Amino acid sequence: MSDRIDDLRSLLDRASYAYYALDSPVLTDAEYDVLYRELVELEQQHPERVVASSPTQRVGAPPLQLFAPVVHESPMLSIDNVFAIDDLNAWVDRLARLLDREPTLFGELKIDGLALSLRYEHGILLQAATRGDGRTGEDVTANIYAVDAIPKRIAHDAPLEVRGEIYLPRSAFQLLNQDPDLKVPFANPRNAAAGSLRQKNPRITASRGLAFFAYQLEEPIETETHHEALALLRSLGFAVEEHAALVEREQLAARIQELDQTRAQLDYDTDGVVIKLDRIEDRGRVGATSRAPRWSIAYKFAPEEQLTRLLAIEISVGKTGKITPFAELEPVVVAGSTVSRATLHNAEQIERKDVRVGDLVVVRKAGEIIPEVVGPVLGARVGELPRYQFPAYCPSCGTRLIRVLDEVDFHCPNRFCPEQLVQRLMHFGSRDAMDIDGLGEVRARQLIELGLVRIPSDLFSLEPHELGQLPGVGDKMIQRFMVGIATARQRPLHRILFGLAIDNVGAHVAQVVASSMGALDDLLTITVEALVALDGVGDTVARSVVHFRDDPYGSQVVAGLIDADVRGQRAPDLAPATSDQLMGLSFVITGSFPDGPREQIRDFIVEHGGRVIEAVSKRTDYLVAGERAGSKLAKAIELGIPVIDLPGLSAIVASRGQQTVI
Ligand code: NAD
Repeated sequence: MSDRIDDLRSLLDRASYAYYALDSPVLTDAEYDVLYRELVELEQQHPERVVASSPTQRVGAPPLQLFAPVVHESPMLSIDNVFAIDDLNAWVDRLARLLDREPTLFGELKIDGLALSLRYEHGILLQAATRGDGRTGEDVTANIYAVDAIPKRIAHDAPLEVRGEIYLPRSAFQLLNQDPDLKVPFANPRNAAAGSLRQKNPRITASRGLAFFAYQLEEPIETETHHEALALLRSLGFAVEEHAALVEREQLAARIQELDQTRAQLDYDTDGVVIKLDRIEDRGRVGATSRAPRWSIAYKFAPEEQLTRLLAIEISVGKTGKITPFAELEPVVVAGSTVSRATLHNAEQIERKDVRVGDLVVVRKAGEIIPEVVGPVLGARVGELPRYQFPAYCPSCGTRLIRVLDEVDFHCPNRFCPEQLVQRLMHFGSRDAMDIDGLGEVRARQLIELGLVRIPSDLFSLEPHELGQLPGVGDKMIQRFMVGIATARQRPLHRILFGLAIDNVGAHVAQVVASSMGALDDLLTITVEALVALDGVGDTVARSVVHFRDDPYGSQVVAGLIDADVRGQRAPDLAPATSDQLMGLSFVITGSFPDGPREQIRDFIVEHGGRVIEAVSKRTDYLVAGERAGSKLAKAIELGIPVIDLPGLSAIVASRGQQTVI
C-alpha cells in the first residue's frame, strides 16, 4: 500500500510538472483527477503518511526561472473538487453547521484557463502574476500589458487586487493550432493560454487573443458580499462571466445541469461550476486548508478530453473532391458520448503533430466541433512506430491525388469519382439544397451503384419501376420518393445553385448569385466579370462558378436540369380548380402558411376530392406542414406518414392525373 502512495505521488508530480511548468500535459485532466482522488483516499486511511510535499497538500508547481518571482500577499489557493451532487450537499451541510445557519451561495462557471493576480494602485496596473505554487508566482506584468482584454487603468484610487482567469477563447485556439508557424500544436485552450502568457516576447502574447474573466476581489474587500464585489469589478471595466449568480441550495443540481448544457455553446472551455459563500464575513469564519479555501468548492463536469488508442488512419472523399483524413479509435466516452472516429483535419496536421497508428492520442470533443485528435502523447509511445504515409491515390476511383500549391488539403481531381458523385447527390438532396424527402446516404449510394443516377439531374427522369430495383424499397417508399422529387422541381434558383456543390459556393453566395439571374438558363452565359460585380462575390468564387459551368461534369448537370425543366422559376400560387385527383386520400394540415390561409388549402384539397381531418393517425395519408409545425409533425414523423409542403401537394395532384393545377 505504501508503495502505491509513493507511486501515485511521483506520477502526479511528473504530470503536474508537465502540465504547469511545460504546458504540455502527459495525462488528461480526468485521469489526473482519478489518480489524485485515489491518493486522497489512501492518505485518509493512513494519516501518518501525510507530508507537506504530497501533491494533496500543495498548489500548482514552482514558478519558472524565466520570470521574476512574485510573493503573493495572500496565497493563491486551489479549489477542492466534488464529482457528485450528494458530495456537494454534504459540503453545504458542513458549512451550515460551522456557521450555525444556512449559507447564502453563489455559483459561477469554472473557466479552464489559469489564475492571474492583478494589483492596482492609484488606478494603475502595477503588477500581474501567475499562481505558481500558490505562494510564489511569476511576474508577467510586461506580457499582461500586451493583453487588450485586461484594464490597465481603472477608476479606483485605493489599492486593489483582482483575481481571475486568463483564458484563450475556443475560436482563437482553433486558429492558433492551424498556424503553420507553430512547431507543436497545443493540447487544449488551457495549455495554449498558459503557453501564450508565459512567453519571453510580449508581442507573441499580444498576438494570441487572450481574454480574462475577473472572479474575485482580495482583502480588504469594500463590499459585504461576493455578488456586490463582482458588480464593482464589472463597473470598473472587468469582464465577469455572464452566468455568475446567487443560487439557492435546492436549485443547485438544476443549475449545474443547466450550465452543463449551456457550456457547449460558449466560446471558452469550462470544467465545472464553482460554488462559493456569498457573504465575505462567512468566508473568514470557515477559513482554509494549506491547499484550498473551505468557502468554495468546484463541481467538475464530465471531461471533454480523453486518451485512447489510434487504431487506423482512413481518408474520406468529399463532394468537392477534398480528401479528409480521420482516425479510427478504440471507442472512448468523451463528454457523455462514445467516440470511435475523429477528424485529423488534413495531411499537414498529421505531419506536424506526428500522429502515428498505434499511438495513445488525446481526443477532444468541445462544443459543436466534431471530435478531433488533438495529438499523440509522445511520452507514451513505445518503440518505433512507422510515420504515416498519406495515400497517393483516391480510395474510390484510384486517380492520383493532387495538392494545389499553398493549400493544406489534397484533392481527387476526377469529377466523376464514384464517391464524389454519391456525396454530391446527397448534398443536392439535402435540407438546405433541394430537400428531397427520402434521399439520404443509403439511397444515394444505391442509386449510383445501380447506375440509375449518375448526376443529380438524372433524378428527374427516374421511373417508379426503376426505384423498385433498390433493395428494401416498397410501394410506399417509391411513392414518397417520387413525391419528394416532384416537390423538389419547384425549389427556387438559389437552392439549385447551392445544391450543385460548386467549389466555394455556400448557401449565402448561392443567394447572391441567384439574385442576379432569372433562371438556371442564365448560368450558361454568365461571365466572371458579371459575377465579380455582385456584392460579396470575389474573383475566386466567380472563377469557380464559371469553371464549374464549363467543366464536363458541371455542364452536363446544368444542361440536364434545364432539360428536365428544373430552372428555379417561382411557382405560381394555388389556383382554384376542381378534379378528383385526391379522391380517397386524407390530409392533416398543420403550421402556418405565409402565402395563403389554411382555409384556401383546405378548399383546394376538398375541391380535388380529398378529405381534411384534424388528428394525425395511422390512417392519415399526408401531413401538409407549414412553418412552425409542432406536435402533429412529430406524430407524423413517428408514424412514418409523408410530410409535404404546398408544392408537394400540387405535385401529388399533378402526379395522379395528367393535368397540372397549380
Ligand atoms: P483547479 O484548476 O481544478 O481549480 C482551481 C482553479 O480554478 C483556480 O486556481 C482558478 O484558476 C480556477 N478558476 C476558474 N474559474 C474560477 C472561478 N469562477 N472562481 C474561482 N476559481 C476559478 O485546481 P488546480 O489546483 O489549479 O489544478 C488541479 C486540476 O488541474 C486537476 O483537477 C486537473 O484537472 C488539472 N491538472 C491536470 C494535470 C494533467 O496532467 N492533465 C496535472 C495537474 C493538474
